[in-house]
Amino acid sequence: MKTIFEKSSSVDGICIGEDSSCNFLGDYLPKKLLRTGNIGLPQLSELEVMRHYKELSDRNFCIEKGFYPLGSCTMKYNPKVNEYLSSLEEFTQLHPLQDDEDSQGALELMYNLQEVLKIITGMDAITLQPSAGAQGELTGMMIVKKYFETKGEMNRKKVIIPDNAHGTNPASAKMCGFDIVEVKSNSKGQVDLEELKTLIDKDVAAIMMTNPNTLGIFEENVLEISELMHNNGSLLYYDGANFNAIMGWTNPALMGFDIVHLNLHKTFATPHGGGGPGAGPVGVVDKLKDFLPVPIIEYDGNKFYKNFDVKHSIGKVRSFYGNFGVLIKAYAYILMMGKNLKLASGDAVLNANYIKEKLKQKYELPYNVPCMHEFVLSGEKQLEKGVSTLGIAKRLMDSNCHPPTIYFPLIVHEALMIEPTESESKETLDNFINNMLEIAKEIETKPTEVLKSPQKTPVKRVDETLAARQPDLVFKM
Ligand SMILES: *Cc1c(COP(=O)(O)O)cnc(C)c1O
Repeated sequence: MKTIFEKSSSVDGICIGEDSSCNFLGDYLPKKLLRTGNIGLPQLSELEVMRHYKELSDRNFCIEKGFYPLGSCTMKYNPKVNEYLSSLEEFTQLHPLQDDEDSQGALELMYNLQEVLKIITGMDAITLQPSAGAQGELTGMMIVKKYFETKGEMNRKKVIIPDNAHGTNPASAKMCGFDIVEVKSNSKGQVDLEELKTLIDKDVAAIMMTNPNTLGIFEENVLEISELMHNNGSLLYYDGANFNAIMGWTNPALMGFDIVHLNLHKTFATPHGGGGPGAGPVGVVDKLKDFLPVPIIEYDGNKFYKNFDVKHSIGKVRSFYGNFGVLIKAYAYILMMGKNLKLASGDAVLNANYIKEKLKQKYELPYNVPCMHEFVLSGEKQLEKGVSTLGIAKRLMDSNCHPPTIYFPLIVHEALMIEPTESESKETLDNFINNMLEIAKEIETKPTEVLKSPQKTPVKRVDETLAARQPDLVFKM
C-alpha cells in the first residue's frame, strides 16, 4: 500500500508566508512568525484522503472485526452510546479552567462517579486523577510512602510482590524508592503463605496483589494475608486490572485492602486498543484519605467544588482532573448496567471456564483449577513438535482472531493467556475453540506448514533474522 505522500501529485502544501498566495494572515500576524517555506503536506481531494484512511483502518484488527481474547487486558465490547455521550458538546467544549459555578454539571458527574466507585470497591475515598493503571499504582505507592513518613516509620522500605505480578507493580514501587521483595507462587498458583510469613518484618511497607491474580486464579488466602500484613502495621495494595472477574460479587475492602486502582479502560467501557487514553482511579480506606492527590471533587449540599485543601496530599499527579472523556464513558456504562455489572462478571468467568475445559484436552493447563475471568495454558507440548507459542499466535491470525497474550505471566513456560470477556456469543467461543484445536492437530501432523503463518494478513510472516540483521527503518520516496 502506498503512503499518502506517494499518492499525492505534489507535496508543496499550503504556505502561510510572504511569498505565498494565501498570505492574508500576514496582515494580522507579526512578520517573524510567518512561515517562509512550504509546509510539505500532500495534495489530495477529500475523497482520496477518506479512501486512504479507510483502507488503512481496514488493515487493522479491532474488536469490531473479530474475537480479541487478549488476557490481562479485558478487550470487551464497549457500547457506542458511551462514545456518543462523551462527545456531547456540553462536555467537550468545557474549558478545564472554567470556574466551578460554570462547570457544575461536569463536577457533579465526577462526584457521582467517585461515589459509585466507592460502592463498587468498598473504599472510603476516590481520586479520579491518574490516567492509567500504572499511574494509579504510582499514586498508591506515593501514598504508602507519605503515610509512613508522616508516622515517622522511615524504616519501611520493602514492598512484597508475587512472582506472577504485572511488571508495572515492581516498577511503580521501585520508582517510589522501595526495595522489591518477591514472594513465590505455590503449586495452586497462589501466593505461598508459608514463604510470605518468612518475608514479613518491620521494614515491610506494603504488599501489592492482583486478585484474581494474573493466572486468573482467586487468592483463597487473601483474608489471612491481610491479617498478617495489618498485624505487622503494613498496608495492602490491590491491582484492580482483573476487576472484570469480581464486579458486584465481592470487593477489595472485603478482602482487607487499603488502596485500590481500577482500570476504567479495561473494566468500565473505554476502548483499550491503541494505547489510550485511559483512567486509573485510586480508592483508599479512611485513614489514607488525607493523602490523596488534589483536587478531590466534593459537594457541600448546595454546590459541587474542587477541594485543594487535603492535609497530607501527595500533590497533583496529572494536569487538571484526569482523562475526563474516559470518566464520562465509565459513568454512563455503570449507570446503564446497574446491578447487571454482577452478571457481566459472572458471564466473563463462565466463558473463560468453558474455553479452558475444551482446550485442556490438547494444550497443557499448568494450574488445573476453576479459573476466574481468564486462564493460562502452556504451549510446551506443541514446542516439542517444533512450534512455539509465538507460532500458535501467528497461526490464529489466519482465522480472523487476535492472538491471546503470550509469554506472560513469566512463571509459565510458553504461556498463552486467554480472556474471552462477557461480551462474546457461544458461537464465537466455539469457533475460537475449534480453531485452537485445529491448530493443535496441524502441529501434530504438519508443523512446518504452521510456521508459514500468518498468510491471510496484510503483512505475512516476517523473516525475523533478516529484520534483525538488515533492519529497514527509513522511509524513502
Ligand atoms: C493492564 C495491567 C496493569 C497496568 O495498567 P495500565 O492501565 O495498562 O497502565 C497493571 N496490572 C495488571 C495485572 C494489568 O493487567
